[in-house]
Amino acid sequence: MNYYSLNHKAPNTTFKDAVIKGLAPDKGLYFPETITPLPKSFFDNIDDLSYTEIAFEAIKQFVSPDIPKAVLKTIVEETLSFDFPIVKLNDNISTLELFHGPTMAFKDVGARFMARCLGYFNKDNTNEITVLVATSGDTGGAVANGFLGVKGVNVVILYPSGKVSDIQEMQLTTLGQNIKALEVDGVFDDCQDMVKRAFLDEELTSKMQLTSANSINVARWLPQLLYFIFAYKQLHKTHKEIVFSVPSGNFGNVCAGMMAQQLGLPIKHFIASNNENNVVTQYLKTEDYNPKPSVQTISNAMDVGNPSNFIRIREIYKNNFNTLKNNLSSYSFSDAETKVALKEIHDKYNYVADPHGAVGYLGSKAYLENNPNAHCVFLETAHPTKFLDVVEDVIKEKQPLPEQIQSVMGKTKEATKISSYDGLKSFLLK
Ligand SMILES: *Cc1c(COP(=O)(O)O)cnc(C)c1O
Repeated sequence: MNYYSLNHKAPNTTFKDAVIKGLAPDKGLYFPETITPLPKSFFDNIDDLSYTEIAFEAIKQFVSPDIPKAVLKTIVEETLSFDFPIVKLNDNISTLELFHGPTMAFKDVGARFMARCLGYFNKDNTNEITVLVATSGDTGGAVANGFLGVKGVNVVILYPSGKVSDIQEMQLTTLGQNIKALEVDGVFDDCQDMVKRAFLDEELTSKMQLTSANSINVARWLPQLLYFIFAYKQLHKTHKEIVFSVPSGNFGNVCAGMMAQQLGLPIKHFIASNNENNVVTQYLKTEDYNPKPSVQTISNAMDVGNPSNFIRIREIYKNNFNTLKNNLSSYSFSDAETKVALKEIHDKYNYVADPHGAVGYLGSKAYLENNPNAHCVFLETAHPTKFLDVVEDVIKEKQPLPEQIQSVMGKTKEATKISSYDGLKSFLLK
């Protein structure tokens, strides 16, 4: 598969090159040249296929011929070595738990897949790479864990000081080896701006191969389409109108779901559930796209003022506003509403959600008001104990810590403080 830049001013390129570059030379996001739907028999016979068989079939067109089939099989098996269960709350609402990976966030899937692709491309030690990543919380931990020990890949993670949860901070600052954390005096957008500036800095890029592990990288973004198919496999016998409510920040996850739909997965509709960072909710109302600075919320992984993947969503629907609107609804909720939802999910359904999942639950409820026959699946994008303070404060119940979380507690934090782009640059050059 070849990829083109959505800025249309750079040459088309291979999967391998797109993964290594991250962003195209014209600063556009890469997008696959073609999307070939899977045969109908694939969906008809889905009950007979294992998750790794499904994943292999669904992803192979996007990575071949750069990743040979036998290697892809191993990558897929290793990446997906945990569960993706559906938990039913009532006849109209389920949740898809995406937090059973090593850092308990859905980003484990993309990060593990991408790390293994880069590891394969660097198998002869010919492509030393620095992965530069800005995180508002979960990306950093998932990338750190996914890339730990991958030869020839150095990972530098920028996170906003004091604006990620304690557990998230431990997950990205305690691993050592090829993983370095930079604690930025600023907000997430500052981190993201520094990363973008580094990619434009010719002095840096002439000295090192920089790439990104945010969802702009096709190897992080595309494997996320797989668990939408896993959800379908679990639900298709009992529910016909499947709708996904995706708690959204940079819109990589919901955009991956739309790629699954392009592959032929029978999905009725998508809901982008937002906190008060609601550029897309406003856009669907007004057709006016107005990025703005992010505001801080209790669902901090979605505190994004200018969602980087929205341009891919427009591409999928050929920049047609009405086609987009027919496939995507979006709602925005305040922190106060999110807390009420956390409590409601707990009291009514005896289920503990995290603040991001709770926003997804609210999106499902809003959509169901006018679409009572739908079955809404909200994505539980992180384990509730990653947001322990908020969750325990709202549901008034102590939460047991899962093993993945316990194992990072009490380790020693190692991070370098920086407050400007110059700090980042001198760190990278030394
Ligand atoms: C990253 C993240 C999101 C947002 O996902 P996008 O792909 O950026 O839209 C939502 N919830 C959690 C817990 C996250 O870590």
